[in-house]
Amino acid sequence: MTTFTELGLCPPLLKALAAENYETPTPIQGQSITPLLEGRDLIGIAQTGTGKTAAFALPILQRLEADKRETPRRSCRALILSPTRELAGQIAESVRVYGKHMKLTSAVVYGGVSINNQMRALANGVDILVATPGRLLDLIGQKAFRIDCVEIFVLDEADQMLDMGFIHTIRKLVAMMSVKRQTILFSATMPQEIAELSKKFLRDPVQVAVTPVATTAERVDQKILFVDTARKPELLLRLLNDDPSINKALVFTRTKHGADRVVKRLVASGISAAAIHGNKSQNARERALFDFKSGHCRLLVATDIAARGIDIDAVSHVINFDLPNIPESYVHRIGRTARAGADGIAISFCDREERAYLRDIERTTRQKIPVMESPLGAVPEVLPALEERKPQPHRHGKPNGERHRAGRPQGQKPKGPGQPRRDERKPSEPRGERGPQNNAARPDGSGENAKRKAKRAAWFKR
Ligand code: AMP
Repeated sequence: MTTFTELGLCPPLLKALAAENYETPTPIQGQSITPLLEGRDLIGIAQTGTGKTAAFALPILQRLEADKRETPRRSCRALILSPTRELAGQIAESVRVYGKHMKLTSAVVYGGVSINNQMRALANGVDILVATPGRLLDLIGQKAFRIDCVEIFVLDEADQMLDMGFIHTIRKLVAMMSVKRQTILFSATMPQEIAELSKKFLRDPVQVAVTPVATTAERVDQKILFVDTARKPELLLRLLNDDPSINKALVFTRTKHGADRVVKRLVASGISAAAIHGNKSQNARERALFDFKSGHCRLLVATDIAARGIDIDAVSHVINFDLPNIPESYVHRIGRTARAGADGIAISFCDREERAYLRDIERTTRQKIPVMESPLGAVPEVLPALEERKPQPHRHGKPNGERHRAGRPQGQKPKGPGQPRRDERKPSEPRGERGPQNNAARPDGSGENAKRKAKRAAWFKR
């Protein structure tokens, strides 16, 4: 397996990655970092959740640091365009985290907030600017930004830009840039318009792709259980006691110590379980695997790294004791219960801290995961969210009906001038979530009539 060092990253970046607990590059990082460090143009087909931000941000940081220059006034050396302000904010934060041991400057600009502060932030120029297209065009119009000095240009989520009607703005922006630049384009899909655009914008690009993750997820019956962190072990025991069909389950924890703790608790309660992770000897791992495969052991508790590459058939359930922070890992995990076309069941525990991971996972798989009623009773604060997670009517025979792109629903026209564009939405309004005014459920359920209550109860029992 390639390491970040082998990909050619410099010590300040390696230090920052170690602090973030990034142990190995994701596939898109493995394929993109080296050509980008060499200055090649690149087209990356990858969804959010694959680690694509680091795939382009790390080489950018390294290239700018290696060729340190004064930042041009009212401009930047690397420009990253993002379709939404939420994503722009996330990218800017990642750039800050990865570049924390370097002396590079960065800024983020998007619509919906005062332009004056942004003009001031750009006055002396920055090394890296993350921007949404509309606001950047405004800044150029007000002579607060010059785009002709840009040395590296990233167009992120190109297909979403297209969905949101930004392509015209992007054409304008690119027309103003110098042709002597490195261009990087990332897109989850490659519609005709984007393919044509990339022919115009990029020179002899390297093409890299990671498999879409949504398809695996469609075959697995998935459920989320909201739970307080401290009650996760108790919840696992309850599930195992209540449901004998959980007879060969792979349980995932985030850390090695977490895996050991879970096994200890299970064994103390009379349930056969073994852990596999990097701290175990080869012997111990092989024994655990053999006991699990042969049915002597009901549960195998693993970390992502340890589970990679092990081949286990006929897993009855995947249980995510902890949700992973990389959505792709979620899909790989649950894919283990749906091997060779067989359907499987995946149950994920989600505590308060993990709700952001859940949002990322749902965005990547483009599914809302149904919520299962907890045998320990509901976590009161998540009750309002349950109503909107009711399964959608099946469409095209698929569960979790909504399958449109994360951008505007297919067939829906771009928003008119009266409605805020996505990059003008307040950061506190998460994408794709309904506002409180639409949320009929109340924490105590008192706003519901008997029919709806019965429907909800029936759904929980499914
Ligand atoms: P992205 O696709 O860039 O939105 O990244 C998805 C998530 O994966 C983010 O939370 C990143 O912090 C995390 N991530 C990216 N690369 C790695 C890695 N190599 N190891 C662990 N986590 C990563």
